[in-house]
Amino acid sequence: KKLGKDQFAVFEPAMRESFQKHLQMEADLRRAVLRHEFELRFQPIVRLRTEEISGLEALVRWQHPDRGMIPPMEFIPLAEETGLIVPIGEWVLREACRQAARWNSRRAGQAPLTVSVNLSAVQLERADLPRLVGSALADSGLPAECLIIELTESLLVDHRPETLRRLEEIKALGVRLAIDDFGTGYSSLAYLRNFPVDIIKIDKSFVDDIGDLPAAAALTLGIIQLGQALQLSTVAEGIEDAGQLSELTDGNCELGQGYYFAEPLTSVAMDNLLFADPSPPSQE
Ligand code: C2E
Ligand code: MG
Ligand code: MG
Ligand code: MG
Repeated sequence: KKLGKDQFAVFEPAMRESFQKHLQMEADLRRAVLRHEFELRFQPIVRLRTEEISGLEALVRWQHPDRGMIPPMEFIPLAEETGLIVPIGEWVLREACRQAARWNSRRAGQAPLTVSVNLSAVQLERADLPRLVGSALADSGLPAECLIIELTESLLVDHRPETLRRLEEIKALGVRLAIDDFGTGYSSLAYLRNFPVDIIKIDKSFVDDIGDLPAAAALTLGIIQLGQALQLSTVAEGIEDAGQLSELTDGNCELGQGYYFAEPLTSVAMDNLLFADPSPPSQE
């Protein structure tokens, strides 16, 4: 009994502290939604053979007034738990479409860029999601073919019956669907047949080891070939060096993203990347 009491005395303050931290974070996140403390970064997705930019992935950041920039992994889980991912996700979708439409309008004559937006399972539980996607496209003027929705494998594996219907409705708009972090979830390949998927994003963990571990290289090539057989595009995530790039290009991976090409950029930095005047040719 005495031991139990001691343990309780030791445990309680730690529990209370973590509980209070959680409550504080939740209050901060509610405030962040009201005060628009979120920003987007855009990471180029590159055609591997030519290294031209084919599209961008929108990645959310929280600019916290005291704690500075908070990465998504540190607040998306709480946002999902509290339902705040719904207004945050709506803002991300609308802002990503708006920026992509703006960039494309300045790229007349060039192939339009795609924009990829990550969606949480909680957003897919909402019956109004297809309408929201349609409204984000209409309000921004972005053609549906330019929007890609990224979903995780676990979302497809544990899906509810309505999920498939909602994805079909979104697809009917002309939007494409990508499976993010492919190869990391419970690998039931059945969903590749059952879901209207267009793009496979090969998880960074495969790309990381592609040069060092024969198994990682074999799995990566296998995923690329699976994609080709099903007529899906393949995107390699987290390319950090030229060796990884050449392995992927040799394996016929179509697209890729990673620090080797560019980190996620602010919209101002993206403006510069897309529209900076090439230096004038030297006269001598
Ligand atoms: P993700 O969708 O798989 O995004 C790729 C992540 O890998 C991004 O991290 C990106 O910055 C990072 N990355 C890209 N290239 C490299 C590389 O070469 N090396 C390394 N080490 N990392 C690289 P980020 O921005 O921290 O996002 C993490 C995750 O948070 C995303 O993974 C996505 O699952 C989630 N997320 C981001 N934005 C949103 C959003 O708007 N909504 C939702 N629901 N989730 C989001
Ligand atoms: Mg993603
Ligand atoms: Mg990913
Ligand atoms: Mg690496």
